[in-house]
Amino acid sequence: MDSLDAFARTKLAALEVGSLRRRLVPTERGSGASAARGGRALVSFSCNDYLGLSHHPRVIAAAQDAAARYGAGAGGSRLVTGDHPYLGALEDGLARHKGTAAALVFGSGYLANLGITPALAGRGDLVVLDELSHACMWAGARLSGARVLTFRHNDPGDLAATLAAHRAEVGRALILTERVFSMDGDRAPLGDLLAVAEDFDAWTLVDDAHGIGVVEDGPRAPLEMGTLSKALGSYGGYLCASRAVVDLMTSRARSFVYTTGLPPASAAAALEALAILEAEPERRARPLALARRFTARLGLPEAVSAVVPVMVGEAQAALDISAALEAEGYLVVAIRPPTVPTGTARLRVAFSAAHDEAQVDGLAEAIAALTGRAGAHFPSARPGPIPQA
Ligand SMILES: *Cc1c(COP(=O)(O)O)cnc(C)c1O
Repeated sequence: MDSLDAFARTKLAALEVGSLRRRLVPTERGSGASAARGGRALVSFSCNDYLGLSHHPRVIAAAQDAAARYGAGAGGSRLVTGDHPYLGALEDGLARHKGTAAALVFGSGYLANLGITPALAGRGDLVVLDELSHACMWAGARLSGARVLTFRHNDPGDLAATLAAHRAEVGRALILTERVFSMDGDRAPLGDLLAVAEDFDAWTLVDDAHGIGVVEDGPRAPLEMGTLSKALGSYGGYLCASRAVVDLMTSRARSFVYTTGLPPASAAAALEALAILEAEPERRARPLALARRFTARLGLPEAVSAVVPVMVGEAQAALDISAALEAEGYLVVAIRPPTVPTGTARLRVAFSAAHDEAQVDGLAEAIAALTGRAGAHFPSARPGPIPQA
């Protein structure tokens, strides 16, 4: 065991040197974008609870009622005894919302991506990802055993060139991208990417984790996955697709088959959140409106989603600015490699319908003052090659 601990300590020391060691900070989230750390009240700009629904009284009541009636856990895989009827109702709701014939709920968004790609592609096939794709899309691609290539971020021409060079050598081809990129807040040119996919007989999987409930316009891909844990305020993941594809996943997605079903409380909460989201367009419009207010105040490119990166560059500088913001009452996490490419550490600011205008203006002022002092430029750093760690 000595060698095991020595290994861990050596690795940690290396992470420490690069300002890349991560630590857990106990944080209590309250309603209205509030959070508390060590007894201090903060306004959080680091939650993906874009519509504030995780604290909506109706969503909480739905979860409480489901737990009281059906227990805290599902008790088994959905293919055994864990398929509570709430899950079917939630799948019907998600499919209707997305305009697909069917949907399948997974244990999380990460698990969905771990299961979907390997069920569609394997040895002799090709997976081509946008270079800035989320870690779980990479994980699914690698796990599939298919050849994995990338295309330049949001560049349909580069995707076409990659497919032109390799499509004939492989069996099936799958393209992976995100509607809204989680760390950059920009949006994929889906119309153009889908046209390329059509030209090369490739299938497209879009990760909609940061789109649903916030920015939903634009074309839909034949495979759209996402999470229940962001705008839907609960926990879990999903795939929306055709009936045949969903039926295939039910039998073949290993991260669906061999894992416990979602707790009934999580399903009931997501179902209630979906109903609220659909009934309240003004709530859905708010995160983007607040993000635009923020980018206007700071002279940043206009926001196109609820996520705005403030580029800093070096990991330590991003950590320092984040700590200074926390001292002023704002929770804004620093995002560092390997989550983002080296040299593009940043503050990731996430806006919610639960924020008010004064909070947004206060944060913009604090960031302007601090980044000026820290000598950071924005928007400066451009994404480099994706880290393979
Ligand atoms: C958060 C996120 C996921 C994972 O979803 P979870 O339900 O939290 O596991 C997947 N893809 C993207 C782009 C995400 O931001």
